[in-house]
Amino acid sequence: MSFLQQSTRHPCYDELAHEYFARMHVAVAPKCNISCKYCNIKYDCVSESRPGVVSRVLTPEEAYRKVQRTVAVLPRLTVVGIAGPGDPLANPQETFDTFALLAEGLPDLQLCLSTNGLMLADYADEIERYRINHVTVTMNTIDPAIGSQVYQAIFYKGKAYREQEAAAILIERQLAGIREIAARGIRVKVNSVLIPGVNDGHLAEVSRAVQDLGAFSHNIMPLIISPGSRYEREGRQAPDPELTVKVQEESAAIIPVMRHCRQCRADAVGLLGEDRGQDLYDTGNSETL
Ligand code: SF4
Ligand code: SF4
Repeated sequence: MSFLQQSTRHPCYDELAHEYFARMHVAVAPKCNISCKYCNIKYDCVSESRPGVVSRVLTPEEAYRKVQRTVAVLPRLTVVGIAGPGDPLANPQETFDTFALLAEGLPDLQLCLSTNGLMLADYADEIERYRINHVTVTMNTIDPAIGSQVYQAIFYKGKAYREQEAAAILIERQLAGIREIAARGIRVKVNSVLIPGVNDGHLAEVSRAVQDLGAFSHNIMPLIISPGSRYEREGRQAPDPELTVKVQEESAAIIPVMRHCRQCRADAVGLLGEDRGQDLYDTGNSETL
C-alpha cells in the first residue's frame, strides 16, 4: 500500500483500518463551554474520552514536537486529533495554533477534531483552512426536554444558560454546525452517549436527523460516569451491553454505526484499544512530553 493510500485511512472512521493504522490525540484544550451531568471537569472529556486523571495539557509547540517524535517511532500513524481534555473549540487559540503547526510541518497526516458542537459553525472557516478532514460531534439528543436531563449549563458568547434553555441553544448550534461542516465536504461522525432511561428510546431519531444533515456515521457509546459528577450523585448506571447493542441495531437501520470505538483518552497514542503514551517515549530520550 502506498503512503498516499495509507494516509487516507482513519482508524475510527474506517472499520477495516482500525487494526492497522494508528491515531494520536494531543491534549491542548483544557477548558469546556458546557457542563454535562455525567462529567467532572477534573477528568478528561467523557463525551469522547475515558475519564482518567486529566491528561497533561501541552502547549501547541509541545504538541507539535510530540507528534514529530511519534511519527519517527510509529510509522503507521495516519491521524492526529484534538479531543480535549475539555472542548477544543472552547480553546480556539491553542487548538488552531496546533493545527496550523501540523498542517504546515507534517502535511501527510490527516487532522481530526472532536467537539460538543456548540461553536462548530462559528469555526467552520478555520476548520477548512487547516484542512481538518474529520470532525466528530457529540450530540446526545435533538429534544431540549431530554437535553435538560443531560446538560446542566452552557456558556455561549459570554452568557450562561441553564437546563432546557441551554439544551435548546446547544442542539440548534450542533445541528447548524453539522450541516455547515458536511456541506464543505468534511467527514462528520456523530457520537452519542447512551444514557439509560434518558435517550435510549430517542437515538434513532438523532441518527435520522444527523444523516439528513450529511453526517456519515453514528457512534453510540455506553455512558461512562465521571467520579464526582451529578450523575454519580444521582446513582445513575451505565447501560447493560444488551441495551447498547439493541440501540446500535436500531440506528444501524438508518446510518452506518461505528462499533469499534474504544473511548480513548484525550492523550491516547497508538492503535485503537491501546495507549502507548508511555512506552513509545520511554526510550532514553528524556525530553518532557
Ligand atoms: Fe465534560 Fe466533555 Fe461534556 Fe465538556 S463536553 S462537560 S469536557 S463531557
Ligand atoms: Fe476513535 Fe473512539 Fe478513540 Fe475517538 S475515542 S479516537 S472515535 S476510537
